[in-house]
Amino acid sequence: MDRKSRGNGGMRGRKKMSKVVKFGGSSLANAEQFKKVADIIHADKSRRYVVPSAPGKRFKEDTKVTDMLYDCYALADAGKDFKKALQEIKKRYQEIIDGLKLELSLEDEFNVIEKCFKEKAGRDYAASRGEYLNGIVLAAYLGFEFIDAAEVIFFDEEGSWDGTKIHDVLNKRVMGCKNVVIPGFYGSLPDGRIKTFSRGGSDITGSIVAQAVGVDVYENWTDVSGVLIADPRIIDNPKGIEVVTYRELRELSYMGFNVLHEDAIFPVRVEGIPINIRNTNAPEDEGTWIVGSTCQKSKYVITGIAGKKGFCSVSVEKDMMNSEIGFGRKVLTAFEDQGISFEHMPSGIDTLTVFVHQDEFMDKEQKVVAGIHRMVKPDAIEIESDLALIAVVGRGMKSTRGTAGRIFSALAHSNVNVKMIDQGSSELNIIIGVNNADFETAIRAIYDIFVLTAV
Ligand code: ASP
Repeated sequence: MDRKSRGNGGMRGRKKMSKVVKFGGSSLANAEQFKKVADIIHADKSRRYVVPSAPGKRFKEDTKVTDMLYDCYALADAGKDFKKALQEIKKRYQEIIDGLKLELSLEDEFNVIEKCFKEKAGRDYAASRGEYLNGIVLAAYLGFEFIDAAEVIFFDEEGSWDGTKIHDVLNKRVMGCKNVVIPGFYGSLPDGRIKTFSRGGSDITGSIVAQAVGVDVYENWTDVSGVLIADPRIIDNPKGIEVVTYRELRELSYMGFNVLHEDAIFPVRVEGIPINIRNTNAPEDEGTWIVGSTCQKSKYVITGIAGKKGFCSVSVEKDMMNSEIGFGRKVLTAFEDQGISFEHMPSGIDTLTVFVHQDEFMDKEQKVVAGIHRMVKPDAIEIESDLALIAVVGRGMKSTRGTAGRIFSALAHSNVNVKMIDQGSSELNIIIGVNNADFETAIRAIYDIFVLTAV
């Protein structure tokens, strides 16, 4: 992905404090939520650049407007009658407009959308209307200026966002504007067609706008009070993380943390702009700060625990393996030839183990085994399935003795058999392999020792 960017950090010192505030779909699902959002924005004058998502679910079984738009467009694209489906979407917005007692009609907008659907303007165009219309409603409610993202967020021919063009056009466009609303999730291609980011992409819009206009903070408002140390489906009421670095978050996201769109980190990271994850339903909570670097120690030695199930380990054994030049490369070639990527590769003197995703590996297992035999003539190959990997992540581990020891004694006490240990050279994380069946017990044991019984 190309992230052409232009620094803007130098200007920040001379400007008044300003923030980008992005609100997710659940924060804007109905009129009640809109009112909370408006209170949050009006409570702080620096919240000048507002990036909304499309209305999300109002209750568990509800459908997000983005999904309604995809479905509606699928009908249009297949030449079927889509009027009823479009009417349902219109109803969602009308409910919000009525609930807010706004003098606003989206009639003309819906006529244009209907026409464009008939002309098959594309799935991306269709999906983008969720944010576009929500932006119009929110701007009217707040009394802020509305800027169509198609005018200020640009993609190049390859579909990568064009940081330089965005920087130049957006800065000119917002010059003299006190407050603006820019819908998330989409922008325009060089030929003017609409393109969206991948799902959840309003997070990226917020980050790009934050970078381009050079704000002090990117606030990302959602429905949880920040990032939790561990998965609440495994740990009862886990504690929140106060400060996490971009690097720690990347490690945790890779292992299953689902906080922000992965690509949302990059634009703000180059400018050192912190992200503050906040809860629209509990605005008094400080939330989580995501920062480049910090001298703030995390409250506990570890910052977070994440993990995934469903791995296989392939252990290749051969006497004197360690002195055979190219051994590791040849083993990995057998996986590469079958299009399988590997997760971890711990090695001993005469064994080397490759961890792979079970679902990717299963069908190609025998081909990989044959490949390894051909390449390195091993003494034995042992395959184990149904394994889980757990990442214990924390910038504090580097300067704390005995972290690994504590993890393993906690696991031993909980009768968890450790299959693999891999400490990254950054000392930012320790990866542990266990049986799928021990996954939850292992996470609870690690959480207990570092958080619940922390001194
Ligand atoms: N509305 C889009 C989605 O549901 C984008 C977003 O919410 O960020 O994925």
